[in-house]
Amino acid sequence: MPLCVAQMAFMAYYKQEFDLTAGMGSRIIVQYMIYAAVTGGRMGAMSLKATKFGGSSLADAVHFAKVRDILFADKDRRFAVASAPGKRYKEDEKVTDLLYKCYRAVERNESADAIFEQISERYLAIAKDLGLDFDMRPVLAETYAEIRRQKSPDFTASRGEYLNAMLLAEYLGWDFIDAKDVIKFDRQGMFAAEWTNEILAEELKKHEYAVIPGFYGSLPNGEIHTFSRGGSDISGAIVARAAQADIYENWTDVSGFLMADPRVVENPRPIDTLTYRELRELSYMGATVLHEDAIFPVHKAGIPTVIKNTNAPQDPGTMIVTKPTEASYKSPITGIAGHKDFTLISIEKAMMNSELGFGRRVLQALEDFGVSFEHLPTGIDTMCVVISDRELSMTKTQIINRIQETCHPDSIEISGGLALIATVGYGMVKTRGTAAKLFAALSDANVNVRMIDQGSSELNIIVGVDVDDFETALRAIYNAFVQ
Ligand code: ASP
Repeated sequence: MPLCVAQMAFMAYYKQEFDLTAGMGSRIIVQYMIYAAVTGGRMGAMSLKATKFGGSSLADAVHFAKVRDILFADKDRRFAVASAPGKRYKEDEKVTDLLYKCYRAVERNESADAIFEQISERYLAIAKDLGLDFDMRPVLAETYAEIRRQKSPDFTASRGEYLNAMLLAEYLGWDFIDAKDVIKFDRQGMFAAEWTNEILAEELKKHEYAVIPGFYGSLPNGEIHTFSRGGSDISGAIVARAAQADIYENWTDVSGFLMADPRVVENPRPIDTLTYRELRELSYMGATVLHEDAIFPVHKAGIPTVIKNTNAPQDPGTMIVTKPTEASYKSPITGIAGHKDFTLISIEKAMMNSELGFGRRVLQALEDFGVSFEHLPTGIDTMCVVISDRELSMTKTQIINRIQETCHPDSIEISGGLALIATVGYGMVKTRGTAAKLFAALSDANVNVRMIDQGSSELNIIVGVDVDDFETALRAIYNAFVQ
């Protein structure tokens, strides 16, 4: 494929910027050719990058300096979403965790002075170590007074991002946009995507460069409301969509996704590129790197996301694209992800396949007790429901009783101790023998397969194995496909 001038300039820029080794360079070139293909050549003089920096990337002054270098290395990086300061070392506490502690003390009418002092110290140290001429004491005092006045968990927790974004904006000399004015939730606390997009897009047009705090927005009555933990990833994706960015750069402390969990597989290969759909199928591992809900705003807007490492910006990271590209079909699998602790409910009834409404009644029983299910493999006269133990812990007996009452099955069997492993990749669609290879690997490793599920998209094969076989099975699959 011939490269257009903008593509070559972009690649040359990247090679210069990060002094690449030959191996790294070729990964980046492949990725950015994909980037060029998926952005339809939109990159070039007018491209725009929305960035998000996680808590570990903004934990102290050293990291603030790294973030500034990254942002200033590319003038297209115009909007930065900031998390609250994260851990500086293993035993350290995240500012968000300290803030929740602070809220609990305030709620119990106990003094939170010592906790808030600890929080203040984090910001004051960053400002001091950066040599900033910005006195944060007044805003910290005002924040603490407001925390005690409002006694709201969301308001309290949101201050981690608010103060950090303010500090980052000051350090960079960029504008500060308060997320409460541009990220909106409805009265029920559901994120109001279209309303937000309208006002945020308007606001962003007024700023050349700006920092926006992640994790929170506001309800129609003006009260602060937060996303779930790790929600700054979502804020970043929302900003990318509203800015019509060419790319959403999510900067964190790892160089993207790995093909398998490194605690199970030694030195797994990094994933260069994957699609949003593949990432959803790999969600058993995805959430640790990127908040699940961060996928939707950018996927919908056709904006790729790249996961980058603030401590190793030369690493290419993982590019997440909207549609499969030629590269997606090159190898049969993109990644393997698994999770332990599932239960299998197996229901048997003669002539089940012709009984109208049987499946609906089973699922109704789950819905009535607020339980969602993972998979639903079926046979002619059998139906299995796979549910995570967490979901089922409080309601198992009630659900079984309800299924008995409404479905009158011949038998119901419950077996716990199930682990699920999803092997995912667009490459499967075009490769014959993927399933044969996978099951041969499991059989050679002496692993008994308790459940099989393959989506009609042919994007994944999910197997259920005994929890005790989990690690062996995952390694066997990895070794069969990745050599
Ligand atoms: N600071 C929040 C948390 O720790 C949000 C985030 O970092 O994304 O969950």
